[in-house]
Amino acid sequence: MKDYCTKCSLEIFGKEREPELNIEQMFEALQPGFMTTGMLCEGCGLVAVTRTEDNELKVVYSEWEGEELIYSEPSDYIKKLQNNDTDE
Ligand SMILES: [Zn+2]
Repeated sequence: MKDYCTKCSLEIFGKEREPELNIEQMFEALQPGFMTTGMLCEGCGLVAVTRTEDNELKVVYSEWEGEELIYSEPSDYIKKLQNNDTDE
């Protein structure tokens, strides 16, 4: 079975289904300044969840560029989701 993060799971399956990669839960389990890796969201390419020293949730995305797998800078996650929700 493929793994999806909170945001992608919500978009694809709706609220009925628990996401395999519960990003908020992972964030809560982290100490400030730490990162969780070893995951891959099939929807958006999310590979890591990090809690900054300021207790901000940031995520890292991966993307294939030709034959090379590149990683994004840590960026916002849930904020984006909330913005999308209010747009609709
Ligand atoms: Zn995703």
